[in-house]
Amino acid sequence: MAKKEKEAKPKTKRKKHPSIKKGPTAYKIEGDKVIRKKSCPKCGAGVFMAEHAKRTHCGKCGFTEHK
Ligand SMILES: [Zn+2]
Repeated sequence: MAKKEKEAKPKTKRKKHPSIKKGPTAYKIEGDKVIRKKSCPKCGAGVFMAEHAKRTHCGKCGFTEHK
C-alpha cells in the first residue's frame, strides 16, 4: 500500500463578498452640484423618499407619492 503523503492543504481562500457599492443615497453629486433627494412631506427634511419608477416612497411613515 502506497503511503499517502500528507499534502499541505493550501489555505482555503475565503470567498470575497461581492462588494456592494453603497454610495450616499440621500443626495446625488453631479459635477460640483449636490442634488438632494426629495424629502418626505410628512416626516420633514432629513427623511428622504425612496425613488421608484413611478412613485416615491417614504420608508419611515409609508407615505407614497405617485408621480
Ligand atoms: Zn415619511
